Amino acid sequence: MNVMNFSKQEIIEILRDDSKNEWLLSLANRIRRENVGDEVHLRGLIEFSNICKSTCKYCGLRCENKNIERYRIQPEDIIFYAQKAVDMGYKTIVLQSGEDKFFSKDVMCEIIKEIKKLDVALTLSIGERSFEEYKAFRDSGADRYLIRIETTDRNLYSQMHPNMGFDNRVRCLKDLKALGFETGTGCLVGLPGQTVESLADDILFFKEIGADMVGIGPFIAHPDTPLKDEPNGDFILALKVMALTRILLPDINIPATTAMETLNPNGRIIALQSGANVVMPNVTVTEFREKYEIYPGKVEISDCSREIIEEKINSIDRVIASGYGFRK
Ligand code: SAH
Repeated sequence: MNVMNFSKQEIIEILRDDSKNEWLLSLANRIRRENVGDEVHLRGLIEFSNICKSTCKYCGLRCENKNIERYRIQPEDIIFYAQKAVDMGYKTIVLQSGEDKFFSKDVMCEIIKEIKKLDVALTLSIGERSFEEYKAFRDSGADRYLIRIETTDRNLYSQMHPNMGFDNRVRCLKDLKALGFETGTGCLVGLPGQTVESLADDILFFKEIGADMVGIGPFIAHPDTPLKDEPNGDFILALKVMALTRILLPDINIPATTAMETLNPNGRIIALQSGANVVMPNVTVTEFREKYEIYPGKVEISDCSREIIEEKINSIDRVIASGYGFRK
């Protein structure tokens, strides 16, 4: 594999200079095609609880937000939705939630074991846990884990996450890698005070940590958070960070994120043509989708049925993958 390498300075220049965007995005598209092909992997996403003990400043699920109706899907119903997704043809299930203590190690392990009986790859995205918990999840059969670093700027990280620590976030990623999870991370683009320099560091961090998947999305201001008056992140800048990630990590899996589509009605298709090769449709009922509002405007677009997504993907000469979608 022929990997292009950009220095931090080169990455910064590319992010600053919008005159070469067309070159950048089509280069990422070509590198995507050469390394992971034209298949698009669909992951069936189950957002199973919006109850969260954390206070991430940007997130609508933060525990201090009293304007949100909380829900928790019970283990047997999570398994029901997973079965439904499998019946629809999904080969990967993603379980995502707030940092909800109800889902202890033992409760999660039971859910993992049941879902793994369905012959699917299983991804977890449930936040920071101990090595022992991650190990138990892995031993129960979980294949992948997503936990975004959000930003590698330590100062910004501590401003955005009052009751969390950057070093522990990195510890989580290292534990997950050591346990043999396919490990996903990523960042937000457009956080208040975030610099282009730190975005370059984010991209280099993905490489350094050995990420198997990287999800990148623009920050979207949520009205019930302390960042309600801040401007949204820039769609093009988020797209460029994603394209550079593809160029530097040619064979990883990169989702076309929902947040991209929230800022641009065709955002996910544009992302698929600029380096992305994964889409994560929501497979729970609308009632829960509405309440899992990490940022506003997320609901309508998650509403896309599998058929509509498939049609859209075919319309850009791409095909839905038939396998489990592990990193090549
Ligand atoms: N509790 C889990 C899952 C978090 S939700 C965890 O800690 O990993 C998944 C992602 O949504 C987060 O990692 C964050 O990057 C993104 N997100 C949260 N609030 C957002 C906002 N206001 N705009 C855009 N993305 C947001």
